[in-house]
Amino acid sequence: SSDESDGPTKTICPYCGVGCGIQIAQDDEGEVTFRPWGDAPVNEGSICIKGGAATQSVNHEDRLTEPLIRDDDGELREASWDEAYDLIVDEMERIHDEHSAQGMGFYGCSKAMNEENYLIQKLARRYGTNSVDTCTRMCHSSTVYALRNSLGAGAMTNSMEDLEEAADVFWIQGANPGEQHPIANSQYFRQAVLEGATVIQVDPHANKTTRSFDIDETDRHMHLQLEPGTDIPLLNVVIKTILENDWLDEEFIAERTQGVDDLKETLEDFDKEAAAEECGVPLEDIELAAEKYAMANNAAIFTGMGMSQHTCGVDNVQNEINLALITGNLGRPGTGVNPLRGQNNVQGASDVGAMPNVLPGYRQVDDPEIRADVEEVWDFEIPSEPGLTNVEMSHEIGDTIHGLYIMGENPVMSEPDTNQVEKRLEELDFMVVQDIYETETAEYADVILPATSWAERDGTVVNTDRRTQRMRGVDKVHPNTKHDLDILCDVGQRLFDDGSFDFEGPEEVFEELRQVAPIFHGMTYDRLGEEGIHWPCLEPGDEGDPYLYADGFTTESGYGQIEGVRHQPPKETPDEEYPLILTTGRIIEHYNTGTMSRRSETLNRVEPENFVDVHPNDAETYGVEDGDYVTLKSRRGEIEVQARVTEDIKEGTVWTTPHFADSAGNRLTNDVLDERAKIPEYKAAAAEIEVT
Ligand code: SF4
Repeated sequence: SSDESDGPTKTICPYCGVGCGIQIAQDDEGEVTFRPWGDAPVNEGSICIKGGAATQSVNHEDRLTEPLIRDDDGELREASWDEAYDLIVDEMERIHDEHSAQGMGFYGCSKAMNEENYLIQKLARRYGTNSVDTCTRMCHSSTVYALRNSLGAGAMTNSMEDLEEAADVFWIQGANPGEQHPIANSQYFRQAVLEGATVIQVDPHANKTTRSFDIDETDRHMHLQLEPGTDIPLLNVVIKTILENDWLDEEFIAERTQGVDDLKETLEDFDKEAAAEECGVPLEDIELAAEKYAMANNAAIFTGMGMSQHTCGVDNVQNEINLALITGNLGRPGTGVNPLRGQNNVQGASDVGAMPNVLPGYRQVDDPEIRADVEEVWDFEIPSEPGLTNVEMSHEIGDTIHGLYIMGENPVMSEPDTNQVEKRLEELDFMVVQDIYETETAEYADVILPATSWAERDGTVVNTDRRTQRMRGVDKVHPNTKHDLDILCDVGQRLFDDGSFDFEGPEEVFEELRQVAPIFHGMTYDRLGEEGIHWPCLEPGDEGDPYLYADGFTTESGYGQIEGVRHQPPKETPDEEYPLILTTGRIIEHYNTGTMSRRSETLNRVEPENFVDVHPNDAETYGVEDGDYVTLKSRRGEIEVQARVTEDIKEGTVWTTPHFADSAGNRLTNDVLDERAKIPEYKAAAAEIEVT
């Protein structure tokens, strides 16, 4: 074992970005078991249903145990590592010769560690392309874009601890922490409400977050249940109410921002009543929420995929930034604009450069000076043109993209319009998948490499509030599996005989990361210890920053950027043929594409299958009874799911999940993209429903 003590091993839950500490132990047969970690820095021993069940998928019989190669007859057969590596090297070299380096695309993994994501982006760039991306593209790329552009850093501005202590108002829009970040919700937000804070939730769907704040004898919870895709008009009503009442922080605006006149001009003729009607929320409710936010000493915004996964995702988040900037709610404890990040290392995967436009530490790849700086450490030429995002790589299959190298992601389930994704993958020349199970994507692979799981590896991850923490592993459960990091080093060494991939282990990789990414420069494995450190940590001895922008914004101008935005409806709206609007979300028991959570007995027992929420009036219109199986259709496909007739959803809207392979919500979603961030519009598609 890599753990030096004899007792349980301290690590981090592999599911969400809250980053709860857990302990794991291993018996003589290799079975891995869960133990609480009582004084873990983030969760102090609390755990949600997913975290408690996380080791079940590690022990699952579906684990890949040997490398597999697809023969000419299409069947998979076991192979040695050498045979698999030889094939990978031959095919990658062939694609390079026939189509240039741009013929390959690389997927990093938001569940893999910083060191592994660092290596896959280095592998892509050494090969000669910047086409490397992770599923951060699907969840918060628009948020990261807006935050970087207007404040300076593409990450949560504050941290859980300062928010719980200092915030009087939590404005939660398009996020469902009660199910997606359960410990943050129970330990921090709910706790703050019990102690006097107010929660304003903006979401088309009532969910466990809504119910978690139904606390006796408090009226400190509002739920603004808006129509999907009307976040901009709703926030414009809020902002206009603040402007009308002069609830602005004039000093903050004058000293630290630019662009307020543009915002005022955008809203000059804005009709609040018409907008409230469009949102489907009473105007006086939005005005009251505006007052509560503006009157708070410290108000914090939390933002989730309900905001980011739209073709206007960047503008949605920009409007949250506008709200925070005009009221001076940035740069001190209890404030800010805070994306709740999904996977346990989706923040870190981006931080270490597994993105097509930036090198580790968010340094622009098209800046020659930055490239020169990194080239000094890497000792090879970095391609200068930004690469393709993952959805663009998928769209380019057969045109520019001929091969894919996928570490741990499952685009068949995670990308929108599944039917098209499957068709395109069939056209690929060559695909490598390294994973712990034969995923829906691996079914299209030519080589499948069996990786160790999160519980068997050492490395670091960055949680939603930039806290960088160490993960520690127990022994391998299956002897012929390999750590992702070792696989990438093996492939890198075989492709390039120049020492670029000579690393003894994760700590050596982290040491190189520190040299090229200033935000990690002051961290070492020793310093991270059990508490972790929030980046930026620029110098050895630097304690890291629990909240950003105390001394100014880190944009080029040094100012926070205010920018008025106008309503942009979703690209698909209901019509006669598809009269409903479909929106998607996740449930507490399952996680994203379900590869791990569907292999957990406990989670499957609670939620064994997909469902669709239908409003009682719509149920009547379409003749649907609670519990009926229905066909849910969009222009792109259909799935069969059980109907739940419930007032949790607004009339005219239906809601389903992406977790289940046999009724995958993404067969229906629209792959149209936000122009700047390239995030797909998962949250709004026209749909219809038929009783099966
Ligand atoms: Fe794991 Fe997130 Fe649950 Fe914590 S809240 S136990 S990190 S899934």
